[in-house]
Amino acid sequence: MAGLAEVAPGVYVHRHPVLDVNATLIVGEDRALLVDTLSGPAQGAALAEEVRRVTPAPLALVNTHHHFDHCFGNAAFGEAGGAIWAHRDAVAQLRDHGPRWQHTWYEQWLPTEPELAEDLGRAVIAVPNRVVHRAATLDVGGRRVELRHLGRGHTEGDLVVLVADAGVVLAGDLVEQGAPPDFGDSYPLEWPETVAALLNLISTDAVVVPGHGAPVDRGFVEHQHGQLSELDWLIRYGHRDRATEQAVAARSPFGPDASLVAVRRGFAELTGGV
Ligand SMILES: [Zn+2]
Repeated sequence: MAGLAEVAPGVYVHRHPVLDVNATLIVGEDRALLVDTLSGPAQGAALAEEVRRVTPAPLALVNTHHHFDHCFGNAAFGEAGGAIWAHRDAVAQLRDHGPRWQHTWYEQWLPTEPELAEDLGRAVIAVPNRVVHRAATLDVGGRRVELRHLGRGHTEGDLVVLVADAGVVLAGDLVEQGAPPDFGDSYPLEWPETVAALLNLISTDAVVVPGHGAPVDRGFVEHQHGQLSELDWLIRYGHRDRATEQAVAARSPFGPDASLVAVRRGFAELTGGV
């Protein structure tokens, strides 16, 4: 475990070596907020121990979206019995399709990351109990923390978290450092607009914590926005010109392997299939 590192006053990031995924702790006067909870009961329990070394304060949770590596550790914080915030569509995915997702992800990861697969496979899915539609403002022990849904992108239900007093923005998987963005459940034709809305909330000196990888700055997000826009237009022109999915993906700034599913989903949307 990498430990919780303070990236701004009272804001700590745990960067987990498996999947390079981030969980972020925001500590207020007498309350704390944990954004994302890792992949399962084992990872969640280890994270809970780390959190308790930093603060004994009552804890609320946020899940930036429904993917297992951001929410399957929720139940490890059950003793807190507190609020778990998420976007409406992330809540619906976990409530209505959680076990099906869990099975799919278990099968997907078993060959390459068996320990991870076992952990996520054992998770009891704690469905978020506080629903965000567009925005919510939380008082975390005297600190104002904003939850925002800016549109569809990495999934249909991504939340970003703003800690204005610390100049920190938690972008979830709308921004990814160290690896290409993940397009498996994405809306590649809407993602650039969502990141443009996010850029409006990022000051020049802000610390941006991506869903995966090292903290970045506004310039990094601008660059990734440019790449997402480029892919968006490649998909639109490729569809118009009846190019193959492979030919379009081959020209993507994120490389052909990461981009094929993006092109597939973009084509489906342009054909009316999404
Ligand atoms: Zn994700």
